[in-house]
Amino acid sequence: MNYVISGREPADALRFFEEISAVPRASRNEAGIAAFMKKFAEDRGLWVNVDEFNNVIIKKPGTPGFENLPAVMLQGHLDIVPEKNQDTVHDWEKDGLKLQVNGDILTATGTTLGCDDGYALSYMMAVLDRKDLRHPPLECVMTSMEEVGLIGAMNMSGEHLTAKRMISMDAGGEGGFLASSAGGNYVFIKVPFHYVEAKGEGIGIHIRGLDGGHSGGMIHMEKGNSNKILGRILYNISKECIFNIASITGGFKGNAIPREADCVIMVHNGMADRAREIIAETEKEVARELAFSDSGFKVVLDTASAEKAINLEATKQIVHLSHVLPNGMMMKSMAIEGLTNASLNVGVVTMEEGFVKYEVTVRSAEDSLVRSISEVVHDIATMAGAQCEITGSYPAFSFDADSKMRKLVMDIYKEMSGKEGQVRAVHGGTEAGVFRGLIPGLDIVGIGPNSGGAHTPEEWVDLGSYERVFNLLVKILDRLCDEQ
Ligand SMILES: [Zn+2]
Repeated sequence: MNYVISGREPADALRFFEEISAVPRASRNEAGIAAFMKKFAEDRGLWVNVDEFNNVIIKKPGTPGFENLPAVMLQGHLDIVPEKNQDTVHDWEKDGLKLQVNGDILTATGTTLGCDDGYALSYMMAVLDRKDLRHPPLECVMTSMEEVGLIGAMNMSGEHLTAKRMISMDAGGEGGFLASSAGGNYVFIKVPFHYVEAKGEGIGIHIRGLDGGHSGGMIHMEKGNSNKILGRILYNISKECIFNIASITGGFKGNAIPREADCVIMVHNGMADRAREIIAETEKEVARELAFSDSGFKVVLDTASAEKAINLEATKQIVHLSHVLPNGMMMKSMAIEGLTNASLNVGVVTMEEGFVKYEVTVRSAEDSLVRSISEVVHDIATMAGAQCEITGSYPAFSFDADSKMRKLVMDIYKEMSGKEGQVRAVHGGTEAGVFRGLIPGLDIVGIGPNSGGAHTPEEWVDLGSYERVFNLLVKILDRLCDEQ
């Protein structure tokens, strides 16, 4: 192999990083990298297990004298997001990544670098390979299909795992220590309808100009939700006018704040002009409310026609549901500044054969709040006469004020760097949450180097930071031998 990185420490970890970069490992194509890890373990006489989802566990006994200490789990994911530049030729089934060093910065040429989560894999490999480290028994867990919904981790049984503490390595930012992530649910609501002959005057209503954003990381920014704004407009019209909805759609992804929504209504009794006035009044109100958070908001109207429309009864249900469904941040954390503790997002409205469907994403750092908020949505939907299903649940990594692992790791960080570490939390799902669900009481801390541009061809990692965080990991494992 032709190595690109030279003259840098930790040389072994960086060599492993280059070796795994040569193995294609896009999400759902992990068989090759799993086999690579299996051989890596077998070559060193280590216990290894690959399950049917290509999750890999490699165990290494504690160094002599420390074999009987409780095990510690190290964890990261095998897969990477296969993004590339338009003009880059890259076959994700066959080609390795072309790494490139520029000063302290490592990138891949035209593709994602897979430092998310290759740093974790290469750190684990170096720790498994070295013979001069002091450490407790290690359970190294490398999961599959993280980037497409935590699928590998969600399908692990835990039968081979004994560790009650874990160093999670899938969160960048040297000096930041992951202490919480969200659990969540998807709630699907269906309003059945039948078509009637359309009558009256058609108005097309188009919500435009909103910023949108990730429904986890951005939900506290008070961005407008196009589906909710449309619901408010329709409700206001319904106070004075009778109309049928001919069509209604909004948003594309459950985990994105919807930026646009479109609806055609057929207004009865010559009331279309009044309906347009009400729309303009509501637009003005909402624009003022969003002036400091989502200033591009506007409503575009046009004339529309339709042959058939949703029956009146179902139209009313849709109007009221779109109006009353809760949305946005429900609770903020008082433990970690800037963290949203619970939220929901009315992400997608679609029209399918015989029903209008809503997709609502619920998130919280507490499993009990995920359940409770999902049940509120369920209750509202069923009271409105709609069908409702709660699915796709994933567990939270709730904040533990007394985490021994986090305290130990942050103390060592301070000793080594002279700086105070920061407690970090994310309002999105992580594998740490999945493992907390699998192993109740699991004491978790997350570490990672400075990196950026994840999931894009601009992805980079700072090699100086990569080295310092590896040294931190080595020191943590060493100190765990003293702590017992
Ligand atoms: Zn990741």
